[in-house]
Amino acid sequence: MLKNKKFLDFIKSMKFRLMIIFVVMAIVPCHILRIGILSSYEARAVSIRESEILSQSKILANKIAKSDFLSGKDDNDVESQVSTLANLYDGRVILVDKNYMIVHDTYNIDERRTIISGQVVKTFAGKELINYDKKDHYIELTIPVSDVEDDNHSVLGVMLVSVSTNNIVLNKTYLSQVGLIIEMTVGILFTFLGVLAALKLVRPMKKLETGIDSVCHGYTDKVESMNTFTEVDLISEKLDLVLNKYKVIDDSRQEFVSNVSHELKTPLTSMKVLADSLNSMQDVPVGMYKEFMSDIANEIERENKIINDLLSLVKMDKSEGSLNITSLNINELLEQILKRLQPIADKQHVEVVLESFRPVTAEVDEVKITLAITNLVENAIKYNVRDDKEEASNDEQRWVHVSLNADHQYFYIKVEDNGIGIPEESLEHIYERFYRVDKSHSREIGGTGLGLAITRSSILMHRGAIKVHSVLNEGTTFDVRIPLNYIKV
Ligand code: ADP
Repeated sequence: MLKNKKFLDFIKSMKFRLMIIFVVMAIVPCHILRIGILSSYEARAVSIRESEILSQSKILANKIAKSDFLSGKDDNDVESQVSTLANLYDGRVILVDKNYMIVHDTYNIDERRTIISGQVVKTFAGKELINYDKKDHYIELTIPVSDVEDDNHSVLGVMLVSVSTNNIVLNKTYLSQVGLIIEMTVGILFTFLGVLAALKLVRPMKKLETGIDSVCHGYTDKVESMNTFTEVDLISEKLDLVLNKYKVIDDSRQEFVSNVSHELKTPLTSMKVLADSLNSMQDVPVGMYKEFMSDIANEIERENKIINDLLSLVKMDKSEGSLNITSLNINELLEQILKRLQPIADKQHVEVVLESFRPVTAEVDEVKITLAITNLVENAIKYNVRDDKEEASNDEQRWVHVSLNADHQYFYIKVEDNGIGIPEESLEHIYERFYRVDKSHSREIGGTGLGLAITRSSILMHRGAIKVHSVLNEGTTFDVRIPLNYIKV
């Protein structure tokens, strides 16, 4: 099984593929070259042989025409020339007279026989015919023996010449063998070069792998710079970016855990102090007991609120798949939220006004969007109350304006208050988890520092945006923009 995997890994490896590419790139052109050269050699050699035989046969045919050899008269000179032609090309010459009778055959087989083939008939009509039989390796040629003294060049007979091309085929076989040896030599050479090149090309990858291994084992937290191929360098740079990103996430997680522990410990410490002081006192009056117990109950409530906010935040951190999108009437949603917050507003003497510019229906997760808007409006109410002295000197009505508008793509919610405002230097931190502008003030009010982090996560999950504008002691405005139709990416 393991062996199989190793083999498969090798087959899939870049090294192997590069080797194959090198070998194929060397052998295929060699092979094509060999086949091309061999076939053009054969065609060329046959055509040369054909024209040689044709010209020699024509000379001989003229000689025969001038003699009376075709009429059966002995002519040693012509006969020896015919034999020479046949021997020279390892072939056979047949002479046919006007009556289609074979008057001379260098093989001495068919003399005195009649031959009426299509080829002979056509030649008597004055045509020269050449045919190459590739399978049986011979060239067949038929030419007329014409009377040169006659103006009409009347055909006296036909000369059939067939010559073997065995030597051409032998040469071709020899060339093919030489070509094959060259092809194999080139193949072996290029396989060797391919292995070398593949090893060289793959080396930076191996180096990169070693670098990543070092990071995995924890020896280093940075992939070493490769300084090899641009592509490999880019990969190592990108890997470093990813590692850095995860480091930042890890650091912020650690900070978050330490913040959570700290925030959860504070109410517990207060409770312990309260309980210890009650225990250490003797004959504690009932009034004091009640007061201390109500303080302890407040701390428990606070602890509970932190835990609830943390749970909401964890839900927001989950993937977008956890959104439960439905089509919702946002006007009604805002009315419900404000109705629920009305008692807190009444208690703080803050007037809350809702202004809807148009009916809006949007695809949102009801729970998450409710949480986001509730946090914004609750903050606007909570951070509206100034300290008593200032309050006394300032008769101005405290208010929170919530407005809803939309265009064809987004709906817009604006939450505006004329409260304490946020100092400019704090504006960029307000969405951080556990960040509070004034810790003690926020704690008095009951804040956990998680509200805006939850709000922002929820809005981002809906692919929306949130912006804040605030002037200290004048008021704060939060602008939220959310797509009417949920965009799934
Ligand atoms: P908290 O639970 O403390 O309210 P948030 O994350 O909701 O935490 O808000 C972070 C801080 O931003 C608050 O502690 C407060 O100081 C400031 N803040 C938020 N909203 C307002 C507002 N409308 N007016 C003034 N300050 C605000």
